[in-house]
Amino acid sequence: MHPNPIDKTPSFSSLSLDEQLLSAVKKMGFEQPTPVQLQAIPLVLEHKDLLVSAETGSGKTAAFLLPTLQHLLNLSSGKAGTRALVLTPTRELAQQIFKHCQQLTEFTDLQTGLITGGDDFRLQQNMLRRNTDIVIATPGRVLELMEQEIPDFSNLEVLILDEADRMLDMGFSEDVLTIANSCNAGRQTLLFSATLTHFGVIKMADKVLKNHKVVALNTLYDGHRNIEQQIVLADDNDHKLKLLTWLLQNETYNKALVFTNSRIQADALRGPLRGQKLRVGVLHGEMDQKDRNRMMELFRDGEVKIMLATDLAARGLDIKGINLVINFDVPRNGINYIHRIGRTGRVDELGLTIALVKHTEWNLMSGIERFLKQKFKHRRIKELEGKYKGPKKLKASGKATGGKNKIEPKKAAVEKVKIRDRDKKNVGKRRVPTVKQDVDFNPL
Ligand code: AMP
Repeated sequence: MHPNPIDKTPSFSSLSLDEQLLSAVKKMGFEQPTPVQLQAIPLVLEHKDLLVSAETGSGKTAAFLLPTLQHLLNLSSGKAGTRALVLTPTRELAQQIFKHCQQLTEFTDLQTGLITGGDDFRLQQNMLRRNTDIVIATPGRVLELMEQEIPDFSNLEVLILDEADRMLDMGFSEDVLTIANSCNAGRQTLLFSATLTHFGVIKMADKVLKNHKVVALNTLYDGHRNIEQQIVLADDNDHKLKLLTWLLQNETYNKALVFTNSRIQADALRGPLRGQKLRVGVLHGEMDQKDRNRMMELFRDGEVKIMLATDLAARGLDIKGINLVINFDVPRNGINYIHRIGRTGRVDELGLTIALVKHTEWNLMSGIERFLKQKFKHRRIKELEGKYKGPKKLKASGKATGGKNKIEPKKAAVEKVKIRDRDKKNVGKRRVPTVKQDVDFNPL
């Protein structure tokens, strides 16, 4: 096939891969890199940890194999043990990747091994003892071999978790973590999943990746997620507070986490929510460790079912039973969004996450949707329907047309006046009950 002269897609040869690998790629009939290969290969070559959402059929296997093989070719290890390990959920997939890897290494001296249940244990032991460079495996059999102290991952350079969401759905979470913990801590880790909005994947990413980059390539509506994501439009922060209160009073949940972008906002919500007889706690970075620990304990034990938190405070928070996450403020970027929603749910549960979005946040929210390649469901709360219905016109990107976050100027001006009047009238009224009822739960 002749290359199209106006086609600007870079070729494989622009990706800094050795001739031996390029020859294999050519022999396999690959003419141009797929989008996931174009985005992931340069980052893997920089030795970055990566979280990638890509589906089967996207060319994801070559996206992690090619740069990993390149890395193995660049540096000869001279050390004992396996240099790269690919963990994958099923035997069939492991066999497929093994075949792919054999084809890609055809013109190199690199040795590929396969470890799956059902195959001869002794042969696999011997293969591992021969320091095979790259091993493709299912977690169960690797663990069995680890019990015999056979595999040596202490010098492992690259760990790849392929189809991580499926692996976790199949109950391999603990096994994968045990294997990852037995690997060289200085390794590079690549986590591939069909979806980024799978709480297990996010939690796994928290545990196994370091300063990772994200490449999101899945389709707009992916069916794998177990976190339902909704958007509720709001006029302003007062309206948001009413919506938040309504949601906390009417949704069914075990524990709820409410995110704000600042400590000041988190503190500001506490009083009014307590005024509505909601038992809430606050968790932010400026609390001293003792208070934070106590707050976490109350939340963990279910004494406090609602926690107001900032991103920093919630990092690494692993508390069971959080099945509602509300973004009072839209997070500043997609990574923070993923971390926030990753706090919901458990393996066998569904989580719900709701973002309260005012007009100044529309573009930020649509940027997050684009980043995740997902469209969230718009929900209306009949009892608290606001004036803001979203931008009149949208660009193809989903952002509002007509400059940054613009809404019709007249309406905006009217709204502003209205808010000011109401606020003035209610200043005294609102504060008194809040302070009184605040005493029903002493924070710390
Ligand atoms: P994967 O998503 O890795 O399962 O790959 C799906 C299929 O696409 C496999 O049959 C690959 O051999 C093939 N493939 C991968 N990369 C390319 C490419 N750049 N051009 C054409 N086919 C490819």
